[in-house]
Amino acid sequence: MAQILDGKQIAAAVRADVRAAVEKRVAAGLRRPALRVVLVGDDPASHSYVRGKQKAADEVGLDAETLTFDAALSEADLLDLVERLNRDDGVDGILVQLPLPAHVDDRKVILALDPDKDVDGFHPVNVGRLVLGQEGFVPCTPAGIVEMLRRSGVETRGKHAVVVGRSQIVGLPMANLLLRKGLDATVTVCHSRTPDLGHHTRQADVLIAAVGRPGTITADMVKEGAVVVDVGVNRVEDASRERGYRLVGDVDFEAVRERAAAITPVPGGVGPMTIAMLLQNTLRAAERRGG
Ligand code: NDP
Repeated sequence: MAQILDGKQIAAAVRADVRAAVEKRVAAGLRRPALRVVLVGDDPASHSYVRGKQKAADEVGLDAETLTFDAALSEADLLDLVERLNRDDGVDGILVQLPLPAHVDDRKVILALDPDKDVDGFHPVNVGRLVLGQEGFVPCTPAGIVEMLRRSGVETRGKHAVVVGRSQIVGLPMANLLLRKGLDATVTVCHSRTPDLGHHTRQADVLIAAVGRPGTITADMVKEGAVVVDVGVNRVEDASRERGYRLVGDVDFEAVRERAAAITPVPGGVGPMTIAMLLQNTLRAAERRGG
């Protein structure tokens, strides 16, 4: 039976470390790392994510503020705001919650961010730094997965890692991170055009599923003793729950846990790590800016 990699517990340990580092800075007369979260429009999921980020940032003692705007905010006004935050020496990290309303070009807004304040790691400069193995900001979900593996004593060096999914926020940066010197995995990346997915996943010592479709990874697709990281968050109908649904990942959890050496649950696996890494990135942004 697989060990459960408890993201809630590990994220709490990361947050405690960030909190201690923030208090140490304050005791040394430095300011609290400052995070500005920009939220445009009224997408309920985005509002809920941003509330979670603000609460976590408050709890570790960051100077965090959510700037909320009506969906009608123009692209030019949003770019102006980003420019002002870039220039503000009292701001260390900027996060623009995606998706943005349809009349705003996400890419333009990301490109306008100062890469050294881009705590989400989405700016092309940070993507380039990741690929080239340079210091920069790494997107929070893959960074959180690496932190979780590290703190759980899971070795990636010389292991075969198979990443299912190639999105810009999860699959692609995940694959690049695992390839980096220090993590040293041999990496295979699969996607919707990969024939015979199971052929690849069965070779994985470390299997990362980031697809967004429940039941994508079944027990017969997993090697005995593999470490399985389930990034997917999917709603499935469940009449026994008051809200009418429950959250599941991309992995058939109950069957796969019989074969795997370790597995992340959904919820309570990768999700809490993602927010913890945002806090850590904001602390690093302040440290790197020397303020
Ligand atoms: P995307 O939809 O952007 O990407 C999904 C990827 O899965 C694509 O690369 C797609 O391939 C691939 N894919 C789709 N169907 C299959 C298939 N049948 N076989 C193999 N590959 C397939 O999603 P995200 O990467 O943004 O998110 C993935 C999941 O992770 C979602 O459930 C999301 O909610 C969750 N998530 C969780 C986070 C957390 O903190 N826990 C954070 C971010 C995401 P192709 O490129 O060919 O289309």
